[in-house]
Amino acid sequence: MLVEPRRSSLMGAGVAVAPATLYVGLGSNLGDRLGTLQAAARQLRDGAVPGTVLVRSSPVYETRPLGPSTAVYMNAAVELRTVAEPQALLAALQLLELRHGRTRRTRWEARTLDLDILCWLPMGLDALELDVPGLRLPHPELTRRDFVLAPLAALAPELRPHGGAGASVTELLAGLDAADRTIVAQVAEQLC
Ligand code: ATP
Ligand code: CA
Ligand code: CA
Repeated sequence: MLVEPRRSSLMGAGVAVAPATLYVGLGSNLGDRLGTLQAAARQLRDGAVPGTVLVRSSPVYETRPLGPSTAVYMNAAVELRTVAEPQALLAALQLLELRHGRTRRTRWEARTLDLDILCWLPMGLDALELDVPGLRLPHPELTRRDFVLAPLAALAPELRPHGGAGASVTELLAGLDAADRTIVAQVAEQLC
């Protein structure tokens, strides 16, 4: 008797087959900031995003806020490997934000958890450049933010978010003005 091969549970639901490495920035300036970042990283490690595994995590930094909220942030970044499509992955991250009580009433309001896709690298290719409704890659503010570049530099200093001809994460970080620097301290605790 012929037995039908089992369909992977990843097939069908907006999931592509080409694997990619991506970097996600995590931020929190409301509630138990470190506890929330650690819980989110554990959830990513434990399969909260279908077809996606956590590879590495950066140190956690305390950073001064740039927007209207005056509450000090904690920021970090993680490296993920995925077979999901970028939009499906962002939707899963937004679900995780909601599970941690994230609200969006005003722009840049204090938040329990912010998860941004910083950069997406299809296996063996340059960083993906994408501009579709609801998703821009690399993240449009990446090059201006030390609270994103510093955690990213801890994971992938040679990464070139705008492709092989663009600057590396280390170069972007070194090029920021002193006035734009927000990092206050590196916290002793690990992300996960
Ligand atoms: P900023 O984008 O300046 O970091 P924010 O993170 O506070 O601000 P959000 O309210 O979390 O902004 O997100 C606003 C919108 O940005 C989201 O609805 C999402 O669709 C869109 N977006 C576009 N590109 C990305 C990306 N690379 N990662 C996460 N969200 C993105
Ligand atoms: Ca953000
Ligand atoms: Ca965001």
